[in-house]
Amino acid sequence: MLPGFGKTYQSTEDIASYHAHVYYDGGTKQHAGDLRREMDKRFDVELGRWRDKAIGPHPMSSFQVTFTKDQFVEIMPFLALNRESLFILVHPNTGDGFIDHTDNAMWVGPSVPLNAEWMKRNQDRLQRAAENMVADQQK
Ligand code: ZN
Repeated sequence: MLPGFGKTYQSTEDIASYHAHVYYDGGTKQHAGDLRREMDKRFDVELGRWRDKAIGPHPMSSFQVTFTKDQFVEIMPFLALNRESLFILVHPNTGDGFIDHTDNAMWVGPSVPLNAEWMKRNQDRLQRAAENMVADQQK
């Protein structure tokens, strides 16, 4: 938030759904697969493809799980109880992918720095947008 503009609070009504991004490497892929199958069995969730490489903001291999607001209360603790050594990024989907993966992120287990190139690209984009806004106001 920009300083001096007064605090605003975003409503949870802005949340359309959630993603869990389950990060794994060679040593944790087996457990990630077991957890994936168990979630599929227990919950009506949408499972994304296995991504055996860093992609987008994600600094390591991962797969995505999409779930609803109502499922959050069951899925978060399920992941906490069963993550073992996995790192899991959970974020709301509010329509701004950058903010959702950064400021709005919640971690199950320790956090992992997101892909630096992706961060820079998006920060540059926000910086340009802010500059354009200032330029527009000066017209
Ligand atoms: Zn996501």
